[in-house]
Amino acid sequence: QEDLPKKVRHPRWVRINTVNTTCAEQLSTTFAGYARASKLAAVLSASGSARIYFQDPNIPNLLAFPPDIDLSTSPAYIKGNIIFQDKASCFPAYLLNVTPEDGDVIDGCAAPGNKTTHLAAIISDQDGPARGQTVIAFERDKVRTGTLQKMVKLASADRIVLVKGGADFLVASPDSEEFSKVGAILLDPSCSGSGIVGRDDTMRMRLPDPSSGTKTISHTSKGKKRKRDKDTNGVSERNTTLDLDLDDSAAEETPVKGKLAERLTALSAFQLRILTHAMRFPKARKITYSTCSVHFKENEGVVFRALASQVAKERGWAILKREHQVDGLKRWERRGIWDSTAFGEDSLLAQEQKAEVCEACIRCEKGTADGTMGFFVAAFVRDDGSDQTAP
Ligand code: SAM
Repeated sequence: QEDLPKKVRHPRWVRINTVNTTCAEQLSTTFAGYARASKLAAVLSASGSARIYFQDPNIPNLLAFPPDIDLSTSPAYIKGNIIFQDKASCFPAYLLNVTPEDGDVIDGCAAPGNKTTHLAAIISDQDGPARGQTVIAFERDKVRTGTLQKMVKLASADRIVLVKGGADFLVASPDSEEFSKVGAILLDPSCSGSGIVGRDDTMRMRLPDPSSGTKTISHTSKGKKRKRDKDTNGVSERNTTLDLDLDDSAAEETPVKGKLAERLTALSAFQLRILTHAMRFPKARKITYSTCSVHFKENEGVVFRALASQVAKERGWAILKREHQVDGLKRWERRGIWDSTAFGEDSLLAQEQKAEVCEACIRCEKGTADGTMGFFVAAFVRDDGSDQTAP
């Protein structure tokens, strides 16, 4: 994971949607005749017309293609067999490591649905649907809910995903019967979007419309105008223009330093609130928390504060240590950081715990040879004492 000079190219990451196809099938049809590169660098330096791909070593069913390749008119994209999703954005669903024993899974902040459909693919690989395993996808914003619904349908995931559109995860009652089988929760809340690789019009949300051949639908809310709205947590969504592969809802940092600090304080308060809310679901034993932010305050800062919270202590939530993570992410070398100025003298954890938590946190850095956006993810686990191996 070597750092490169700033102007590094970004690959076109393609996740094979294993709800309705397999990697082998796509390699022998859509990508028949493509040569397999042994290094990511080979696709990064190739032209858009080169028939070459790289199979990602960390995330199953993820391929990288040359940055300028255009797959948006390919039948596989139009049929939802392939999904454009940054490598980093694939970390949370994979890290959650859902098994049939986990029962239902909540995606608390779902639109446009990259991680929701990834969860559906993982569940579908394990025969989860046959066991009645459901992904319950919350999305508070009504416009973005429409996109989420389209993406779920396109990915053939509608028999696995239950979309709760216009629904605020924060007001979902953990003790409701509806969530009594929820064993795992993925949380990817609104953030500063500071990890996003430069956006332009070609990156706007475009979902293929299977009913109209190769036509694409642009899902910018209100044309190209950006819509500002207040969310119920007092944090304004800065941009509801939707990106399919860049999954933020709150891009662009405020350039004025003081304002950025205020915004990060508001965002991290909301992020902590939503994470500690997830910790209240009685059967939940796994949570992932992620952002596309580079800021300690929204990332490790939230993790440390969540671990020190009353609910985490009462319910026995702990960080998922590196050695217990899924193989592909255990091997990932960019780990969490510690900002000694963040909590002042009032340190939340002992020195050795800090090191362990930072080692458990996963970071991605934009502008590196990894070819990812800037990203952060951590997982929490708990043992609620119930024996899940019982029939
Ligand atoms: N996970 C998505 C993906 O991978 O495609 C991206 C999620 S985006 C970073 C955050 C989303 O959470 C936004 O669509 C926002 O409207 C939604 N959101 C924010 N607060 C929420 C809440 N309290 N309940 C439900 N959805 C919320």
